[in-house]
Amino acid sequence: MRKLQLHWQILIGMLLGIVFGFIMTYPDWGRDFVADWINPFGTIFVRLLKLIAIPLILASLIKGISDLKDISRFRDIGVRTIIIYICTTVIAITIGLLLVNALKPGEGISQDTIDKLTATYAADAGVTSKIEEASRQKESGPLQFLVDMVPDNAIFAMSFNSLMLQVIFFAIFFGISMLLIGEKDAKPLKNFFDSLNEVVLKMVDLIMLTAPYAVFALLAGVVVSSSDPELLLALLKYAGVVVLGLLLMIVFYSIAVSTFTRYNPLTFLSKISPAQLLAFSTSSSAATLPVTMERVEEHIGVDKEVSSFVLPVGATINMDGTSLYQGVAAVFIAQALGFPLDFSGQLTIVLTALLASIGSAAVPGAGMVMLVIVLESIGFPPDKLAIGLALIFAVDRPLDMCRTVVNVTGDATVSMMVAKSVGKLGKPKVKNWDDHWEEVK
Ligand code: ASP
Repeated sequence: MRKLQLHWQILIGMLLGIVFGFIMTYPDWGRDFVADWINPFGTIFVRLLKLIAIPLILASLIKGISDLKDISRFRDIGVRTIIIYICTTVIAITIGLLLVNALKPGEGISQDTIDKLTATYAADAGVTSKIEEASRQKESGPLQFLVDMVPDNAIFAMSFNSLMLQVIFFAIFFGISMLLIGEKDAKPLKNFFDSLNEVVLKMVDLIMLTAPYAVFALLAGVVVSSSDPELLLALLKYAGVVVLGLLLMIVFYSIAVSTFTRYNPLTFLSKISPAQLLAFSTSSSAATLPVTMERVEEHIGVDKEVSSFVLPVGATINMDGTSLYQGVAAVFIAQALGFPLDFSGQLTIVLTALLASIGSAAVPGAGMVMLVIVLESIGFPPDKLAIGLALIFAVDRPLDMCRTVVNVTGDATVSMMVAKSVGKLGKPKVKNWDDHWEEVK
């Protein structure tokens, strides 16, 4: 096992986890056994990754900014990042809408299936909690997102993974101020953040040693808690459209990487594959962030100056997979329930799904909360929201796993494009995983 490359080890762990999960659905005690004795190891792994996300963002962003020769470069990086993020998200939603309108997965679904899905999920806590959360998010004013970005207490912001944008704001502010006080006065702090950065990257390496076992636990847990296979089959066409759209996004990223950076797209995909596999296993871009950063910086050669800004911001606001899914799901629900949707309705979806993906948290199931807001924006009757969500709830977890892979791949792609455009795509530090593995051990 140790001789295999990391992504193969993780893949084997995942496959074994899926097989084990299936086997455990047979004995009466199987599901409880997995939930009580196996899944916690996966949860510990996710917690460890989240544990280092904030120190990693803080250390690498402050270090990245304080190493800048010229502050205007930071503005260039920021503007390019936001523009490219918006473009890729709009492309993702457009792909989703084109596919769902062409393939019409909602039209073939029988009334019988709709009734069955509604009876099973419309009152499910998973669905009702999403609708409640969406209504809480909606209560705020239009500029609330700006207010939310500015922390009033840095320590408080750092104690919540969901306040990542506030931590980014603080780190940028701190880093720029460090630059302004001059090299001599900033030196001790710079050394401190340099070495903090190294320590946290080493923590990522150490945590990754357990990744193949952790994904086994995570996937066994997902399989034993999955829905009735009959309901999953009824939604196969809808799920197929989402997955097809997500695959097209991966093709799009490969083309973007090779066109804009001249990097071999297959090498790119293989270098970031451990991050993609973890995104799939954890369904959380935030939990995957430390690994995405490590892969992009150490294995691809994107300078910290770029990656330390582009990736954490991307994990929070750039969710191409989520927005594609929101477009497909909204139209699918409209098709299935016979809700009329004209061209302007579809345009509204593009706009709200763009904003919704920015507002979605980087945690499992967040995309569905914002889907409620997308549905409301096209005038979907509020009393039918629960029925609408019930239609797609059965396959939401597997689709969440797939869309998170796209979210993470999108962030990595954009970090390469931005790095190339500002001349910061260099040589990777780690060329050969086997050597690195020996070193970590
Ligand atoms: N789980 C996704 C992520 O973390 C968000 C979502 O689509 O639910 O990127």
